[in-house]
Amino acid sequence: MRKKLIAGNWKMFKTNSEALQLANQVKIKTTEISKTKIVMCPPFTALAAVADVVRGTKIGVGAQNLYWEKEGAFTAEISAGMIKSTGAAYVIIGHSERRQYFGETDATVNKRLISALENGLTAIVCVGETLNEREANVTRDVVGKQIRGAFNGITASDFSQIIVAYEPVWAIGTGKTATPDQAQEVHAYLRQVMADEKGREIAESLQILYGGSVKPENASELLSQKDIDGALVGGACLNADSFGAIIHSAEAL
Ligand code: PEP
Repeated sequence: MRKKLIAGNWKMFKTNSEALQLANQVKIKTTEISKTKIVMCPPFTALAAVADVVRGTKIGVGAQNLYWEKEGAFTAEISAGMIKSTGAAYVIIGHSERRQYFGETDATVNKRLISALENGLTAIVCVGETLNEREANVTRDVVGKQIRGAFNGITASDFSQIIVAYEPVWAIGTGKTATPDQAQEVHAYLRQVMADEKGREIAESLQILYGGSVKPENASELLSQKDIDGALVGGACLNADSFGAIIHSAEAL
């Protein structure tokens, strides 16, 4: 039985004092949560501070990206080891905003994933189609290619440190959510691709999160779908009431 996981992608929001406030509020609102895993992904600047706030709780902390080299003359980049040293244990890789604005490709997603795994971080690997791609009926081709590219050369034993997030690009930050049926269909397809590529056991244990305008009003129905194991939440994770409500919806299932 796969556990539910609710992760919050703070994107480029929250100064350090705001981050401390939000992390503390989420901590207070989730003291009774026992079954659902919670992960908060603040900007790099607040990772250590947020990790300090949640130390000793069940809340995990993650970065939103990493660079695959260990160290070197790579101005402004952050390595997996640096992320680990803040107390964070997770990292988001291949978010569509990174693909869209910063040239991320399936090949660089793969390099980042390998570096995350080597450094003991759990990776949340994002895939998803654009509106044009959905309308052209190529969603399966697109997400299949993304997931195969991301996991190129990744071996069975690594999958305990890998989570997938299906995030249709047309649903991110737009208020348009995939219907539970639309999301379930792609999640089931991704699980099938994983079964074909890496075997049924890995496919069945892999957590696949849905992301794209998840809010308290739609969380429960999405999270009830058979192959939806949690959510990657953007906008609604910036407020402790709405993020807390989504977490409580997952816990109630
Ligand atoms: C995201 O950024 O991963 C995301 C899903 O954003 P939103 O919830 O705002 O659509």
